[in-house]
Amino acid sequence: MKEMNNPKWVPQLLAWYDVNKRDLPWRDCGDPYKVWVSEVMSQQTRIEAMKPYYDNWMRLFPTLEDLAKATEDEVVHAWQGLGYYSRARNLRLGVQDVVHNYGGVVPHNRKDMESLKGVGSYTAGAVLSMAYGEPEVAVDGNVLRIYARLYGIFDDILSTKGKKMITAIVEDTLPHDRPGDFNQALMDFGSAVCIPKTPRCGECPIVNTCHAYQHNVTDQLPVRIKKIKVVDVPVFVGILSYGDYYLLHKRPNRGLLRSMWEFPSVENADSYDAAESGLTELVGTFGFELSLQPVIVKELTHVFSHRKWFMKAFRGDLQYTGDHTSIETIQTQLPKDWMLIKREEFADYAWAGPHGKLTELCPIVE
Ligand code: SF4
Repeated sequence: MKEMNNPKWVPQLLAWYDVNKRDLPWRDCGDPYKVWVSEVMSQQTRIEAMKPYYDNWMRLFPTLEDLAKATEDEVVHAWQGLGYYSRARNLRLGVQDVVHNYGGVVPHNRKDMESLKGVGSYTAGAVLSMAYGEPEVAVDGNVLRIYARLYGIFDDILSTKGKKMITAIVEDTLPHDRPGDFNQALMDFGSAVCIPKTPRCGECPIVNTCHAYQHNVTDQLPVRIKKIKVVDVPVFVGILSYGDYYLLHKRPNRGLLRSMWEFPSVENADSYDAAESGLTELVGTFGFELSLQPVIVKELTHVFSHRKWFMKAFRGDLQYTGDHTSIETIQTQLPKDWMLIKREEFADYAWAGPHGKLTELCPIVE
């Protein structure tokens, strides 16, 4: 990768970083596994919020080998609360690849690094530069925003053209003597000073070279044209108990929140009556009758990338109409993606996003 003459702002930003850098456990440790985990965890989560998850993760899976040996359920469970669970699954698969095909050593080059499951251009650049000191850029939304402002780029930063243009400038400005520090300086600078909504230009160490500031257009940059249409989906949820047990469903192993546990639910019903009849029909296939209480016990909204769930939760009682009486026998009659468990066991399972919040309601006392 070629290096252009460092513009004046690069050493100024590095000097700011030397004084203001956040003290984080994966920094300056030279351990690519730790950097890798931290980068994947922080992709959709603020650093402060993800730190406890990182610490817990390192207690459970302190090395690549520990993670490679863990089951998918263990990994997803440890990830619970961070969302976007495919990241956890892919991290495990990528680490298994390193253990089995690279002798347990995270690759030193971008091509091999990006061939690992779940590792994209940003994560590869972050790991290579921070752990190995390789002159690789790590361009994410944070960096796109900062450069769009610094260089006065009005192209859409979500477009391929905008991303390519900015990535080329980042490559040109990357200081080869401190690539890891530079990438981390951009991360910290973007989260503390050149923040998304209203940049703190009054505290900015590179204000004199910033095009957006000099031309009074900081409120217009970066340009982001969103194309994704988010679909609203009503979801009626039944918190259904059979004595001390609750009926749960494991979501399919494809699609949204895959393989995670949830309370029985009905999507897109247009009324309480429609939802009640949907739930009654659902549990009826397992030999249960349902008395659903028509009182909402909780309303929740949960936003995914393409859908927004408007959830209404109701409580209900189940009566078993089959011949069997013991809970063990009833359990064996249920399909493998359904189960009855007690409240105390909730913590042992990975919950499907907002359904985890509903567990806090149980037991629901009227
Ligand atoms: S002057 Fe303002 S907009 Fe420009 S880089 Fe600094 S914080 Fe960002």
